[in-house]
Amino acid sequence: MTTRYFTTPLYYVNAQPHLGHAFTTILGDVIKRHYRQRGDQVTLLTGTDEHGEKIAAMAASQGKTPQQLADEVSAQFKSTWEQMNLDFDIFYRTTSAAHVKSVQQALQIMKDRGEIVFREYEGNYCVGCERFLTDSELSAEGHCPDHKKPPEKRKEANYFFLMSKYRDRLVAHFEQNPDSIRPENYRNEILSFLKQPLADLCISRPKERLTWGIPLPFDDRFVTYVWVDALTNYLAATGWPSSSWAGGAGENLWSSARHLIAKDILKTHAVYWTAMLMAWGVKPFFQLNVHGYWLIGGTKMSKSLGNVIRPVEVEATYGRETLRYYLLREMSFGMDSTFTLESYVNSINAHLANGIGNLASRVLTLCQKNFQGSFSIDSLTDMDRALLEKRAQTLSAWNQSFEDLKFQNALKAWSDLVTAVDLYVNDNKPWALAKDSAQSERLQVVLGVCCMLLGALAAIVYPVLPEASIKLAQSLGLGLFDLKKSFPGLQLVTEVRTQWKLSPEVPKLFARVALPTPQAE
Ligand SMILES: [Zn+2]
Repeated sequence: MTTRYFTTPLYYVNAQPHLGHAFTTILGDVIKRHYRQRGDQVTLLTGTDEHGEKIAAMAASQGKTPQQLADEVSAQFKSTWEQMNLDFDIFYRTTSAAHVKSVQQALQIMKDRGEIVFREYEGNYCVGCERFLTDSELSAEGHCPDHKKPPEKRKEANYFFLMSKYRDRLVAHFEQNPDSIRPENYRNEILSFLKQPLADLCISRPKERLTWGIPLPFDDRFVTYVWVDALTNYLAATGWPSSSWAGGAGENLWSSARHLIAKDILKTHAVYWTAMLMAWGVKPFFQLNVHGYWLIGGTKMSKSLGNVIRPVEVEATYGRETLRYYLLREMSFGMDSTFTLESYVNSINAHLANGIGNLASRVLTLCQKNFQGSFSIDSLTDMDRALLEKRAQTLSAWNQSFEDLKFQNALKAWSDLVTAVDLYVNDNKPWALAKDSAQSERLQVVLGVCCMLLGALAAIVYPVLPEASIKLAQSLGLGLFDLKKSFPGLQLVTEVRTQWKLSPEVPKLFARVALPTPQAE
């Protein structure tokens, strides 16, 4: 059994869940369902990143403790994913006692291996911002862009991870493992970045400047800053660095790690994270899958949506699973895409309401009136068999598209099969066959073929539209399924089934939707 371990980033609790978070998490759920349907052992991790100055400042401004704020926002993320039926296995929080312990162990291992040094440095410190600014943050005049004043030159001592020495090993790793970062252009971006000298990485902050963090185990005047805290989760969730990890289920799970991220955190994952793993003597993650941004566009975005799209509200208005379908159908993986309400509404109506929704209700209504539930396999014509073969061709295109991260192509292949079944119904006119007693056997064959196609459409689209898929399969009498444990099986795509016992319900899978009408101010 193949083990696969997928992770989303841990989302920072300075904002509520929005479209970008939803996309990565939906992607994790879709991929998990896809591989699980094929018999793999799949684990999906998501969660929240909860330490840092921003959280402390935001909590103070709201009269809360940082932990209260982190608890509230973390719970919002978790309940959003639950309401959207996203089937994560691990919801990881960086303020958990287990994580704090793992990070301290991780830091101690680095220290013991001579990977961490204490170093004084001088930098541009803005008193207003209470932090050092990097050269690239300064304005053209060399001022803090927020405080419009030149920063002070100030000295501070901190702990540094000796990352610079890993440059050659990182280059060799990414050159020797062409699939380690996908799509290819992001791997090239990292290899090009690594042509420059690599700096060491500051991993601490003095407690006078930052208290909301994990104390260094070897110097309690400091807390660890961002990287070791936020990235270690992926590995710690597999049980590392416990003594039973190496050679056990934990290491096996880790060796299948596939990270899903947006492009803004490419460098921190490809470079910082990989170097940290090397410093611990742990094998780098198996794969980094990098997607682009969702831009919000169009003119008719309703006021309630504003520029921030709340995934649960969107699906409450436009229908369950419509966002999953739209996001995967619209985005060319790796590139930026634009979300517009117009294209969202068009996609729902064209592919879901008028596509599979209309086809299923049309076929199942005809079946309720005319289908006796069986036919002879010998009565299948060449035309019937040609359509039946399209099921396996569609599945094969779907599978390949998932391997290549081309989810658009998977859904296009599936929509093409919906269209092919529609044409088959139009050509065979079962409503006309039903009026001609000489055609009663042909009528049974045509309806039986349609049922086989609906079953295949349900099984194929399950990873993207699990609720609709299950509803459709159950109305065909194919079994009782639930969203976590059981689902329409892929045998529906190849088998010739001549006995049917349909449920008496004709499901309404997707409703047509309309753009909101403009309201007067
Ligand atoms: Zn400033």
